[in-house]
Amino acid sequence: MSLKEQSKLLGALFPHKCPFCGRVIGGAEDGVCPECAASVSRCVRPAAEKGVYYGKAYAVYEYKGRVRSALLGYKFSGKRALGRFFGIKIAELLKTEGLNADVIVCPPSLSKRERGSDYDHAQLLAKMVSRYSGIRFKNVLKRTGKRRPMYELSPAERRANIADSVRVADAGAVRGKTVLIVDDILTTGATANECARMLRGCGAVKIYVAAAAARK
Ligand SMILES: [Zn+2]
Repeated sequence: MSLKEQSKLLGALFPHKCPFCGRVIGGAEDGVCPECAASVSRCVRPAAEKGVYYGKAYAVYEYKGRVRSALLGYKFSGKRALGRFFGIKIAELLKTEGLNADVIVCPPSLSKRERGSDYDHAQLLAKMVSRYSGIRFKNVLKRTGKRRPMYELSPAERRANIADSVRVADAGAVRGKTVLIVDDILTTGATANECARMLRGCGAVKIYVAAAAARK
């Protein structure tokens, strides 16, 4: 079954609500109501700049407006079901961009207190992308120590906060492999870049990033 057929089937089985406005939309093709579909911007990031450890970063949407509200709801207000929606969207993006990978990873988890929700949103999203793309997920990126939640910090503080904050728990899982880092929101790319640096150090040959949304 193709991804499109799969999301159509899901829409038919469950009364489907638009992820952005909550309106019931039945088995809508794209999973988004027409009004929201017209208001959100699709976004594919250009190739990464020099000095960055990943090859290219892709994002489904631009991080603003309804997309921003939905992602904040997903991360901080317990709107867990949105993980599946964004997971399907990222899997579709991989397909249209012709991206393949041997393994999917995600940035290390914050503690339950720091992330302010009872589920790990980064990992849930990565697992959903894995489910709908068929690329296996490996939970190999771990934190090295104390770190403040990124959303509290300025870009300069983020860079300092992130350096040496990530380790690879199982180098064998990424050595010689093409690795896809799945993240929810790409802002400066600092987190993804630090993850990529460590993956590269463990012998990953190609590293891509795919996110639900990116700041332009
Ligand atoms: Zn809508």
